[in-house]
Amino acid sequence: LRMSFTLHGLPGSGGIAIGQAHLISQATLEVSHLLIPPRLVDKEIVRFETALESVRAEFATLKTTTAHALTDIRAFVDLHLMILSDPELSEVPKQIIRDRRCNAEWAIVQQMEFLVEQFEKIDDTYLRERSYDVRQVVERVVRELAGHHDHAGSRFGRGVKGENLIVVAHDLSPADVMAFKDQNFSSFITDVGGATSHTAILSRGMGIPAVLGLHNARQLIRDKETLIVDGTRGVVIVNPDRRILEEYQIKKSQFEIERAKLKLLKTARATTLDKVKIDLLANIEGPEEVTIALESGAEGVGLFRTEFIFLGRGDMPGEEEQFEAYRKVVKGMEGRPVTIRTFDLGNDKNLHTELSVERKRENPALGLRSIRLSLAEPKSFLAQLRAILRASKYGKVKILIPMLSHALQIDQTLAILEQAKSSLRGEKVAFDESIEIGGMIEVPAAALAIGPFLRRLDFLSIGTNDLIQYTLAIDRSDEQVASLYEPLHPAVLMLLAHIIGSSERAGVPVSMCGELAGDPHMTRLLLGMGLRQFSMFPAQIPEVKQKIKQSDISELTPVVRRILKLEESSKIQEQIERLNLVVPT
Ligand code: PEP
Ligand code: MG
Repeated sequence: LRMSFTLHGLPGSGGIAIGQAHLISQATLEVSHLLIPPRLVDKEIVRFETALESVRAEFATLKTTTAHALTDIRAFVDLHLMILSDPELSEVPKQIIRDRRCNAEWAIVQQMEFLVEQFEKIDDTYLRERSYDVRQVVERVVRELAGHHDHAGSRFGRGVKGENLIVVAHDLSPADVMAFKDQNFSSFITDVGGATSHTAILSRGMGIPAVLGLHNARQLIRDKETLIVDGTRGVVIVNPDRRILEEYQIKKSQFEIERAKLKLLKTARATTLDKVKIDLLANIEGPEEVTIALESGAEGVGLFRTEFIFLGRGDMPGEEEQFEAYRKVVKGMEGRPVTIRTFDLGNDKNLHTELSVERKRENPALGLRSIRLSLAEPKSFLAQLRAILRASKYGKVKILIPMLSHALQIDQTLAILEQAKSSLRGEKVAFDESIEIGGMIEVPAAALAIGPFLRRLDFLSIGTNDLIQYTLAIDRSDEQVASLYEPLHPAVLMLLAHIIGSSERAGVPVSMCGELAGDPHMTRLLLGMGLRQFSMFPAQIPEVKQKIKQSDISELTPVVRRILKLEESSKIQEQIERLNLVVPT
């Protein structure tokens, strides 16, 4: 049995999971065989050497950045470095490329299979186990050769199913997560990804613990090893000893009891001590989440991320199919408001995973995504608006437009909406004539020059995930800069205060649907800033509700006003902690 060790990452989704590791291969070792023209053979060898070199550099960095205390991990990396440098893997494949004029991937996998076969003949457990390490090292090289383009497809293996399986992956795209949604995994952990990446958001929506940004979990953990995932603290314990295991089993049931207790708050109203009524709404990704939303006590859907229903399937859904999905949600919510956001595709969310590789741009977050993409494809956009309008016959529907930055985009959107309405009128199809249309404020430009948004839209919704990303120039899905992703940066708070204050003065309803809205540590700050509508992943509603019920807005407002004058996030953090200490008598 291997020794126990602990890995630290970023909390992706709260809760504790105990189960068996299920490793997701990142570069399937089923590589294709290509015949290389003689004049390109040398180039192919260079490609192989370059890949080998960068993997070697990566291992070396890993070694120096791993704390000395973690000797077992360092020993591991040493072993992998040794394997990588062994002529069997570093030289023989070059010969294969030359002799057979094949691609580098194929050459190294051929050689790996030969080596693994040799290992497996040896009657020594330790040596037999090494074949596993050889595989891992080769996988890493193949991935490097592929230029990191690993994608979903059938990465989960056929017929895998299990409540106690914990997915261990280098990276999971939102499409990947959607792909294993039905397979009942109890948790997942990844090497890359930040806490507000869409992958993390999805795990919260599914209510399963997740830890992201672990850097090298995929390499250090082996298939079927026992894991404890503490999603709240962002910690993974590999091969825990009996005592730790028991401790966490107790923690896990305590967490579940706590959740159950909070659920009792379901029917309680979200009213502050000074009798201000707060709206608590749910963020959902599809019709199947309606039940969770209602069970958590949501008073409506504040954000329905429509793109998720169709992620990873490769084609654009037609009007009919969309209409069915939207109607399901609207009917399911039984008259409560449902805010349907138009497709927020592009960047990390793509319909087709292959296509996303093809279309990869240098700065996808700044590219043709979201409303920009919708406006660039007016036919699809029209179909979506028609589908939403048709669903509005079955309940209270609002339309939400993501990522607006220019006033002109509002005009263009309103024009297409008008076109959708008049086409339906022409066909005598019923819809809500007074349907409200709102815009997400998630680009700093929209937050600052907010005038036209307030004048031309019926409501606003603050998307803090993107607003923080764009304000601080921090990629929300890149774990390497995760420490700089700071919701309490004074610049972020200034923008939030400006958006909320301007909306209040203009008499335009404003809600918040980014992850900040679901963080109970932030509830009092946001209340004090004047926010009255919060939309979050359903599991968070009870905890935020509890916080609201213990808060007095008239007391909070002057304190928050002082906090907003602070110029350093550390000081702000400190004051918010104090703000949270106040327990009402
Ligand atoms: C946001 O950006 O805060 C938001 C709510 O939208 P998404 O997370 O889907 O980008
Ligand atoms: Mg957004």
